[in-house]
Amino acid sequence: LADRLEDAWKKLRGQDKISESNIKEALQEVRRALLAADVNLQVVRGFIKDVEQKALGADVITGVNPGQQFIKIVYDELVNLMGESNVPLAQADQAPTVILMAGLQGTGKTTATAKLALYLRKENRSALMVATDVYRPAAIDQLKTLGQQIDVPVFDLGSDANPVEIARQGVEKAKELGVDTVLIDTAGRLQIDPQMMAELAQIKQVVNPDDTLLVVDAMTGQEAANLTHTFHEQIGITGAILTKLDGDTRGGAALSVRQISGQPIKFVGVGEKVEALQPFYPDRLASRILNMGDVLTLVEKAQEAIDVGDVEKLQNKILEATFDFDDFIKQMRFMKNMGSLGGLLKMIPGMNKLSSGDIEKGEKELKRTEAMISSMTTEERKNPDLLAKSPGRRRRIAQGSGHSETDVSKLITNFTKMRTMMQQMGMGGMPGGMPGMGA
Ligand code: GDP
Ligand code: MG
Repeated sequence: LADRLEDAWKKLRGQDKISESNIKEALQEVRRALLAADVNLQVVRGFIKDVEQKALGADVITGVNPGQQFIKIVYDELVNLMGESNVPLAQADQAPTVILMAGLQGTGKTTATAKLALYLRKENRSALMVATDVYRPAAIDQLKTLGQQIDVPVFDLGSDANPVEIARQGVEKAKELGVDTVLIDTAGRLQIDPQMMAELAQIKQVVNPDDTLLVVDAMTGQEAANLTHTFHEQIGITGAILTKLDGDTRGGAALSVRQISGQPIKFVGVGEKVEALQPFYPDRLASRILNMGDVLTLVEKAQEAIDVGDVEKLQNKILEATFDFDDFIKQMRFMKNMGSLGGLLKMIPGMNKLSSGDIEKGEKELKRTEAMISSMTTEERKNPDLLAKSPGRRRRIAQGSGHSETDVSKLITNFTKMRTMMQQMGMGGMPGGMPGMGA
């Protein structure tokens, strides 16, 4: 996917505007990317429409190429759709808070119940876990074992009791014990079946939970949308836990869950151990779904570093042919603002193949150039032509900066060439497009 987006990005790169025609292909790539990440088709369609509108309406940011900007729009929109970050568990005004766990069999409900209990304990809130899965022989024992492991009590009535009754008594027990939160683990079937739904609905009615959490296996893929729809329609969920994110799935199910239910994903499970629970951060998952690595950091840095007003001034200067060495230095500082050249180049897809030797060379070249410009007088900087005419001045600069006269002559030649070139291009991709001055 990273490669595909990279291609789309490259195509956008040479363009100076985001337009309907050049965006088409890029949108197509995003669409494929999301589908590959298991985002539901319906959800993808809506998303693409949103992104297209935003992209076409966007002001092109000077100095950031449209490809970068497009990726930023896609990413922001994805984060936006994924919802608020880190929504806490519900907490009732009057203890106990009741949390109901729902979901298909094998998704990680029982594990998540124990994870939440441990999480609450770490927050100095006490918990009681209630075992209502009477259908699978080992289910009650599984919860009890986990309870022992984390030192949290488990309430059960054996495997002959009625699940609704167990839940009801479990909440009573919590009141009696003065426990802060009751976590009700429930049974799940391999597929959604009416009996399971009816039972769950009954439990919900009886215990009146403050939070009803749908536990979704991140590897569910496309099905996550249907699943969420059914559970939300028939039971009504108030949040979700996305489990097994430690696998190699991209986690596109998160987007489906969020889009279909409108409810937040509160936690993610990242392993089999009881400690492996994390609050949900939409930005992290958005990056994961798009598999974009550091491209975003680059875009953000670019936006921070570039003072749009300054860039415009520089552009005018170039067009008026008054671009001088002072402006040249300014342009170099823009790049410096964006971090070291090496770090910067590595963040650009495709550029990470640059050898560290190449990068070092580039950085060295920048430093040398800066040193030579520093040795120029104010007059010389403002008027580069003075230098072209006077070997004496070039010698003085060479000595002052510790470089050879050839180096200084080269710099001046390259600068002049660059200025002409930029004028012809009407400034192209400033400031990222600074032509290599040393090479
Ligand atoms: P339940 O049927 O919904 O109660 O699911 P369980 O809690 O019994 O979990 C089913 C399987 O998934 C068990 O083997 C768990 O160890 C495993 N599991 C649960 N959560 C995670 C997770 O976040 N990551 C991984 N890798 N495995 C998990
Ligand atoms: Mg279970």
